[in-house]
Amino acid sequence: TAISASDLEKLQVLGHGNGGTVYKVRHKRTSTIYALKVVHGDSDSTTRRQIHREMEILRRTDSPYIVQCHGCFEKPSGEIAIAMEYMDLGTLDTLLKSNGTFSEAKLALVACQVLNGLSYLHAYNIIHRDIKPSNLLVNKNMEVKIADFGVSKIMCRTLDACNSYVGTCAYMSPERFDPETYGGNYNGYASDIWSLGLTLMELYMGHFPFLPAGQRPDWATLMCAICFGDPPSLPEGASDDFRSFVECCLQKESSKRWTAAQLLTHPFLTKDPETQ
Ligand code: ATP
Ligand code: MG
Repeated sequence: TAISASDLEKLQVLGHGNGGTVYKVRHKRTSTIYALKVVHGDSDSTTRRQIHREMEILRRTDSPYIVQCHGCFEKPSGEIAIAMEYMDLGTLDTLLKSNGTFSEAKLALVACQVLNGLSYLHAYNIIHRDIKPSNLLVNKNMEVKIADFGVSKIMCRTLDACNSYVGTCAYMSPERFDPETYGGNYNGYASDIWSLGLTLMELYMGHFPFLPAGQRPDWATLMCAICFGDPPSLPEGASDDFRSFVECCLQKESSKRWTAAQLLTHPFLTKDPETQ
């Protein structure tokens, strides 16, 4: 059922992102709680482009592993808002700060859900490009969902585009359909897997794996470490399965990195932790 903006009453601010504010809102008639992401009419063009991209992607997606969209509103003033399902435990980042580091068993549950979300997105030619603890939402059933599609990319040559060029598309080379995959060795989908690997390490260790605990990021040093150093590895005490899983995510050569579908078959996720 469609909801309208005037039915929603703001309860509190949940968070601020670049350019927008997310509110906890209540639907007046049904009392259903939603999260409403609002971008003001006078915001800059980058912010507006991002919220439009997010709207476009949330409209296309329908998966239990991706935050659900319940309506998009554009006011004459130029204000844009997206009503999303409310995730009552916030993000994995806030959970890390309030409850401390995650056990391997919990991380296996997190990884499994995020990978289901990524495998869905990648199958629809969408690259998220900003997977990190603060963009993964959680509710009290420990359901984890991917959010925040502001910098995501929809790979444009899909079957639909192909169908609109009937007659000529059969002769088009692979790189015309999908320049980023076939036009070089840059593989955009694999970058989401790298980010997931770092996310899981951070939730396990309690700090960003490329930096010692408590150190503030200095972009130049960090970039050198990422590009020229070895990928980070888990501290002593981590299980062999978890170590191997993270290694499969953090292959520097993107073509050697496992895909979301492959990772879903990794023993770290499929082995029953009781029998280890
Ligand atoms: P950033 O640039 O920091 O990633 P952003 O502009 O992309 O932020 P979001 O990440 O979408 O904005 O949301 C900002 C904050 O609002 C989140 O960190 C989270 O705390 C809260 N939030 C967003 N969506 C929801 C939701 N569906 N349920 C509950 N809280 C949410
Ligand atoms: Mg965010």
